[in-house]
Amino acid sequence: MKIHEYQAKQILAEFGVPVPKGRVARTPEEAKEIAEELGGKVVVKAQIHAGGRGKGGGVKLATSPAEAEHAARAIIGMQLVTHQTGPEGQKVKAVVVEEQMAIERELYLAVVIDNVAGRPAIMASAAGGMEIEEVAATSPEQIHRVTVDPAAGFQPFLARELAYAVGLDGDSVRLAVQLMGALYKAFIANDASLAEINPLVVTNDGRLLALDAKFNFDDNALYRHPEVVALRDLDEENPLEVEAQSMGINNYIKLEGNIGCVVNGAGLAMATMDSIKFAGGEPANFLDIGTVNDPQRVVGAFKVIKSDPAVKAILINIFGGMARVDVIAEGVIAAFKQMDVGMPVVVRLEGTNLEQGAKMLAESGLPVIRATDLGSAAREAVQAAGGLS
Ligand code: GDP
Ligand code: MN
Repeated sequence: MKIHEYQAKQILAEFGVPVPKGRVARTPEEAKEIAEELGGKVVVKAQIHAGGRGKGGGVKLATSPAEAEHAARAIIGMQLVTHQTGPEGQKVKAVVVEEQMAIERELYLAVVIDNVAGRPAIMASAAGGMEIEEVAATSPEQIHRVTVDPAAGFQPFLARELAYAVGLDGDSVRLAVQLMGALYKAFIANDASLAEINPLVVTNDGRLLALDAKFNFDDNALYRHPEVVALRDLDEENPLEVEAQSMGINNYIKLEGNIGCVVNGAGLAMATMDSIKFAGGEPANFLDIGTVNDPQRVVGAFKVIKSDPAVKAILINIFGGMARVDVIAEGVIAAFKQMDVGMPVVVRLEGTNLEQGAKMLAESGLPVIRATDLGSAAREAVQAAGGLS
């Protein structure tokens, strides 16, 4: 789960990471009031879940409350396009109005889970304010990282190592160590998977502040953070994915093709997408239906897939292990009863209770196309969706 910059900064502030003074505004008038409180010289920043807002025109400097109001009027309601939003962009509902900082240096700082080390890692770079993916691609030597032993916790010497590596000296080293400790604490306490400050700025008067902030949270730990869940903004998420979650399907990801996939298991779901591509088609989604023993979950998957207007055919590929093929068959039959499926459905079933499931489908008289292996299932689906893409 993601949150907005202003929410991330509230969390950072609670844990002792210095952030610029400011607040969120939902109207240009509110933006003007905040700018007045802050003395007029402010920055107005679009609040959307994507990064790259600066380049996309979503960050504007203002030198008076009137200018701040004007900037907010331009930004609120705009369809902001950045490299992370896709070409359709994201509608801006709010801005942050913050005091302007006199910036001497822009650094990068983040805590992430290092999946290889199986530990949190702190990353820092002197190339702040830029896309870190770009820095990683063009000059990886500019990214410094240390991993933290979770049993020992945050160690100041690791932070000092990073502070020196990005070229800090004197008192700013002490400030950086303090700030990294606070960031690490915020990361751990909230079960985050990413806590990123880009840029972390050094001001002309020697302060260190988080000018931008981003948090991603581990969805599997959200149950123990109701206060984080309360920060969720569904308008920023894909509506089909939100609908899928409301039906207990947590692993649905919308893609660009026209073949809807219902698969159990993430690995099989990926193999199914590969097979569709190999057969010359494009999957409309990734969907791991999980270990299903409730036919209604299959009906839910049909509903979600059908609400994507791009879908022209459905491919059901199930390997019944813990899940049972007869339950899936029951779900497919229920889906046809409960809705107008209105498109070709290719079914490939394998595993536990296959005979029973196959018999149920055969006796149902439904117009499903049965396939006996993954390759032919994919070819049937591509053909049913209108041939090669
Ligand atoms: P992003 O583009 O979505 O990552 O948005 P950021 O919050 O990182 O802002 C982008 C850039 O705007 C920063 O890297 C800064 O260069 C600039 N910027 C943001 N706030 C200020 C500010 O208070 N003063 C100055 N001078 N520049 C700022
Ligand atoms: Mn940024």
